[in-house]
Amino acid sequence: MRGELVSEQHPFAVVIACSDSRVPPSLIFDQDLGDLFVIRVAGNVVGPSQVASVEYAVDVLKSSLVVVVGHTGCGAIGAAVKAMLDPDLHYSPAMDMLVGRISEAVYNDDAFDAAGSMGEKCEIAGGANVVHALENLVNFSDIIRSAVEEERVKLVGSEYDMRTGIVNWMD
Ligand SMILES: [Zn+2]
Repeated sequence: MRGELVSEQHPFAVVIACSDSRVPPSLIFDQDLGDLFVIRVAGNVVGPSQVASVEYAVDVLKSSLVVVVGHTGCGAIGAAVKAMLDPDLHYSPAMDMLVGRISEAVYNDDAFDAAGSMGEKCEIAGGANVVHALENLVNFSDIIRSAVEEERVKLVGSEYDMRTGIVNWMD
C-alpha cells in the first residue's frame, strides 16, 4: 500500500484534530495510509496555517470532506476557560494566542456565561470551538467557501468522546 502511494495521494477527507495523544484521527476513524489529510494542533483551532492546509487538500488533492473533531477532556479548552475566568492569568505569548482563538468561540455566548461549573463551561466551549473552526475555514478562504457553495466539499463538526470511543456528529 505504501508503494502504491509513493507517486500520488488522494485523501478523501481532511481532518482537523487536537494534538492530544489519545485522539489520533487515523486510528479513531479506522483509516489507512493515504485516506486522511490530517491537520493537528492543540485545541483543533483554525488559524492561517490550518486554512492554507485545508485549501491545499481541497483545491489540489480534491478532498471532498472536511471534518473538525474536538474531544472531551481537552487540555487546550480547559486552559482557555481558565484564562477567561481569570483575566490576570497569562500563559506564554504563543499560548495566549492559541487560547485566544478558543475564547473567540464563546464570545457573548449566553449559555457559556450562565454555565455554573468548569466542566459545563468546557463542554460548551468545546462544541463552540468546533463550530468556530468551521466558520474560520469559510470566512478566511475564498477557495474553501467556493468549494462549499459549489458542493464540491462538505464541512462537518464532531466530537470524540474519550470515555466511549464514539464520535458524535453535529447537525
Ligand atoms: Zn485537546
